[in-house]
Amino acid sequence: MHGDNRIESLPSEDQPRVQAFMDRMWKSPPRCLAGGFSAAPEELVEDLRDNYGDFWTIFRVGPEDASHRVWGGLPEGEDEDEDLGFWQRVVLGDEPERPRFSFDNRRDGHDGESGFTADEEDLPLTQYLCPECGQAQFECFVAFEYPIDLEESLEGDDAARPQDFYTWFSLLVYCDNCDHGDEAASIECA
Ligand SMILES: [Zn+2]
Repeated sequence: MHGDNRIESLPSEDQPRVQAFMDRMWKSPPRCLAGGFSAAPEELVEDLRDNYGDFWTIFRVGPEDASHRVWGGLPEGEDEDEDLGFWQRVVLGDEPERPRFSFDNRRDGHDGESGFTADEEDLPLTQYLCPECGQAQFECFVAFEYPIDLEESLEGDDAARPQDFYTWFSLLVYCDNCDHGDEAASIECA
């Protein structure tokens, strides 16, 4: 899997080091996926790399047949009609109180891990429903961006888990009913 994920867009002296780092990230997803994950389909991996770049990873939340209800943090007064996506938190599961997956910008990713976003106010959770058919269950994929110099910049305990210091988080959802696909969250983490 991912055997052809060769990074071509680097000066040759950096290529082996960065390639080895990204190979490791593909095998070591962030701790927000500790509740379970599986491989994303190869065509989704190729789309991600074509559209976002070589320094992204993507995983399916849960096992291959899993689907989830989706909630996220939006500023009050905003809603999905404005096509903003969620800004702060993402919660996946049958109910928001018992998540099977959660991401929170105040705790997760580069700035969350570094304490830069800890004091941000708690945005209310809004449920995401399919904009085409209105139903609530989705196949969910989460994607993470890594900076090219990340491994060199981390120290101490943080250097042992670079996979948690991603700089962008994205949630892609595909409707169980009509297969409509959408990016429900795109959250800068650094
Ligand atoms: Zn739908």
